[in-house]
Amino acid sequence: MNATQLLEFLVSTPSVSGDEVTIADNLSGILSEDGFRVQREDNNIWWTLGKGVRPHLVLLSHLDTVPPCAGWESDPFKPQVEDGKLIGLGANDAKGSVAAMIMTAREIRHGDLEGSITFAFVADEERGGEGIRTIKPKLGQIDAALVGEPTGLQVCTSQRGLLILRCTAHGKAAHAAHGHLGENAIHKAVRDISRLVAMEFEAHDGLGATRAQVTQITGGLVRNQVPDRCEFFVDLRTTPNLDHATVAAEIGARLESEVAVHSHRYEPVATNASELVVRAALEVADASRGVGSVTTSDWAFLKGIAAVKVGPGNTNRSHRPNEYLLLSELEAGVAFYSRFVHTYFRMAAAGVVYV
Ligand SMILES: [Zn+2]
Repeated sequence: MNATQLLEFLVSTPSVSGDEVTIADNLSGILSEDGFRVQREDNNIWWTLGKGVRPHLVLLSHLDTVPPCAGWESDPFKPQVEDGKLIGLGANDAKGSVAAMIMTAREIRHGDLEGSITFAFVADEERGGEGIRTIKPKLGQIDAALVGEPTGLQVCTSQRGLLILRCTAHGKAAHAAHGHLGENAIHKAVRDISRLVAMEFEAHDGLGATRAQVTQITGGLVRNQVPDRCEFFVDLRTTPNLDHATVAAEIGARLESEVAVHSHRYEPVATNASELVVRAALEVADASRGVGSVTTSDWAFLKGIAAVKVGPGNTNRSHRPNEYLLLSELEAGVAFYSRFVHTYFRMAAAGVVYV
């Protein structure tokens, strides 16, 4: 199978999050026939090439997709090739990266790598990252990672995180006609939301400011009663210079409402420009510096590991109807990953800032 055929195979195998058994079975079968010694845990698959020594580089992407949305002009699970595009669900996010990584594994398998490289394709990226969290402890010591997501082959060296807070304004119920006997929880929530919207957090050099977005609100039981409770959710797309616990505590100190952390596991991440993985990726991209990414990914679960996010395609096409990847982008992705692997191990062998 060439890269296009591989991507057609991946797109034509439905793999909406939670339903990745078939793609994990079929892809494991193809890779095993290729001679790769594939390991599997749930619907996550990986294999390692090289000498079993450090440095250990991991190339990671995901097999799952979001469910098809409205507006598709063709069957999302039947890849269509037209005008140099491969159209189908997941073609861009992130099966193009998966196909390009597999082509790279085939290309380097007989090479003489001074280190080890693991290719890992996981399930459940689109709904919580269970896949990477399951297999990460089994991958051994990781010196560097590249996460395959559609970045237009730009090298992302920082990525926003996600902190979700659940805020509860408590009041006192009363007849609406005797408002002075109660304490209106919705009014309290409104005051807090105004405070939240005005709050400023330290801006990140590259990703910019973090602002709070109130995304859901519920309160009040009936139209003639002063409500004693109002709950609202706050979504914060955090930057790597912010600490989730500190941000939650700062907000808690400013609001009248009770503030609880609903979700904090998507940590913001960044990798220093001096890291070998960044230098290797920038050399291949022929770029002088990395870019920031506002969308989260499984990179959030690799905090502490020097990593970059790079892949073929465009993030604006993800999670939308008529998603596609240009075949030229796929070819460029294959070339990028192959050159990246060689460059990384060449730099490591030369002792270039490998710490
Ligand atoms: Zn993705």
